[in-house]
Amino acid sequence: MSNPFNRAAYLLAAHVPRQLPPDDGFEVAFAGRSNAGKSSALNALCRQNALARVSKTPGRTQQLVYFELPPHERRFLVDLPGYGYAKVPRELQAHWQAFIADYFAHRQALRGLVVVMDIRHPLKDYDRQMIQFAVRNGTPAHALLTKADKLGRGAAGNTLQAVRRELQAQHGEQVSVQTFSSESKAGVDELRAVVARWMEIGAPAPGAD
Ligand code: GDP
Repeated sequence: MSNPFNRAAYLLAAHVPRQLPPDDGFEVAFAGRSNAGKSSALNALCRQNALARVSKTPGRTQQLVYFELPPHERRFLVDLPGYGYAKVPRELQAHWQAFIADYFAHRQALRGLVVVMDIRHPLKDYDRQMIQFAVRNGTPAHALLTKADKLGRGAAGNTLQAVRRELQAQHGEQVSVQTFSSESKAGVDELRAVVARWMEIGAPAPGAD
């Protein structure tokens, strides 16, 4: 089977809950501190070079950005606001924190959360908070340790084990972990399989494009 994400296309950006699409689909959300490598990971997942650039345009950085996945119906990738921007005004921070908390608590369509972390700086407070939001509401989370190409194989493997041990001690099987590189594409098949399973679409064959 070909890559089920290669026709991903921008659908909409939501600043308040009423702008979200009807809550009857299958969504997988992506979160990450700014610069963690979230846009690059979304682009690698979908094999598109500029897909997630739209999420970074001025005015969109505090919105939930939806991508649809034709020909699959009502399947969406959701790019959550990149957090960690020092200069976001306080009210806006409060606004999006409330929006995100509400989204995790009530969104029926949400099937899983991918938390993108730079493998050299994993499990910062915000990462832990996003994982908490998800598992507290019964949503599985997948930690993506990206930029693995920046570390040697041994160091990457050690970080993987340490992060997995810690998250599974806290959250059990609700949380999974993998290493990833948007640069070398290592781990793309594993990520596609996780997202496809959550969305209940056929898992792509390894190496599919
Ligand atoms: P975002 O802010 O989380 O969306 O991060 P970006 O995807 O824009 O990436 C931030 C920076 O890290 C950019 O300069 C990317 O080229 C770089 N980057 C992202 N992923 C990787 C990766 O897997 N390996 C390497 N070496 N660099 C990466």
